Amino acid sequence: MGLKFPIYLDHAATTPCDPRVVEAMLPFFTERYGNPGSRNHRFGWEAEEGVDTARQQVAALIGSDEKEVVFTSGATESNNIAIKGAAYMYERAPAGSGRPRGHIISAIHEHKAVLDPCKRLQKEGFDVTFLEPGSDGLITAEMVRGAMREDTILVTIMWANNEIGTINEIREIGALCHEREVIFHTDATQWVGKMPTDVGKDNVDLLSMSGHKIYGPKGVGALYVRRRKPRVRLQSLVDGGGQERGFRSGTLNVPGIVGLGKAAEIALQEMEQDGRRLLAMRTRLENAVTAALDVVQVNGHREKRLPQITNISFGFVEGESLMMAVKEIACSSGSACTSASLEPSYVLKALGVGDELAHSSLRLSLGRWTTDEQVDYAAEAIVKSVKKLRELSPLYDMHKEGIDLSKVEWAHH
Ligand code: PMP
Repeated sequence: MGLKFPIYLDHAATTPCDPRVVEAMLPFFTERYGNPGSRNHRFGWEAEEGVDTARQQVAALIGSDEKEVVFTSGATESNNIAIKGAAYMYERAPAGSGRPRGHIISAIHEHKAVLDPCKRLQKEGFDVTFLEPGSDGLITAEMVRGAMREDTILVTIMWANNEIGTINEIREIGALCHEREVIFHTDATQWVGKMPTDVGKDNVDLLSMSGHKIYGPKGVGALYVRRRKPRVRLQSLVDGGGQERGFRSGTLNVPGIVGLGKAAEIALQEMEQDGRRLLAMRTRLENAVTAALDVVQVNGHREKRLPQITNISFGFVEGESLMMAVKEIACSSGSACTSASLEPSYVLKALGVGDELAHSSLRLSLGRWTTDEQVDYAAEAIVKSVKKLRELSPLYDMHKEGIDLSKVEWAHH
């Protein structure tokens, strides 16, 4: 089969909806359109049935009880409900008392959907410690232990990082939190549906996930809220009809939820096989690139890494030129658009990657329908582009001649 362009290697940003998911959703738009809150007629019951099934499917994927699943509009909302909801519920000192309202532990390279709620809480009088990883991006239980205080109320550490794929020590961090009676939240958006998850064994109290990262629809997600040992309480942020045990009021997005459920069911069935295939393809991609080029580095932890993501930095090429050169590959760069300027990725910076190298990095993330042919094409296109760009680089010439560029004294104007 011929290749179609651009080749989509940005599955960590979002995934296409699985046709089986779309098929499951369709009747809930046009036929079973009832409000699951309508208790008096068949339309309501049918919608409720769809939601119940989805709740079971999501619960099965994460090893929880179905009563512990709260449907939301996505991982951003789940994170907000969990982090702010727990902070307000478990605060130790009242606002305005002059004492910290409570202590929270997170990390500097979390997703914005965790960082920004934490920063808001900081402004409101909570103390937040943002842990800093080493060059592998890993957050360990020891790091969390070192930051624990008497008044720590919440730890929020992502399961796997969305830019580099590094997998944190979730089970160990959870065990530590339970030992200290601290609530443990994890943003598992990139992890769930890709890797086996058991909120019981993994000692997680609150877990965020999203539909559109697991071949489900956008605008729907879930929050797992532990009901026993400990029973987690959250102050609600969205008040209204009291749906979802009061954690998230509002008429349920029934088609979206049904889609999320179906996506969860498929993920559970196909996870092992998909994971093996993706790992083999990712290895093929990384090998092809690193064998053909020097001055490249794969970012993140060597082993503790999601199988579908690779993040590679290329020395001696300019970031924007690299993106332009590989535009037939749809992927992410190590730059983020903040207002009008390009900022180097704060995740890569947290790992100690320099600004220049961060800009000239690519995140390639593979998915359910990625083929070997696509991966081979991508590797070849990247290698060719980097070589071509380096032909224009006097610095690369100097590097090849063995000149230590760190010792060169540049003229400053
Ligand atoms: N957390 C992580 C780790 C993510 O990768 C994303 C999506 N980029 C989100 C949160 C936000 O998810 P959603 O789009 O469902 O709000």
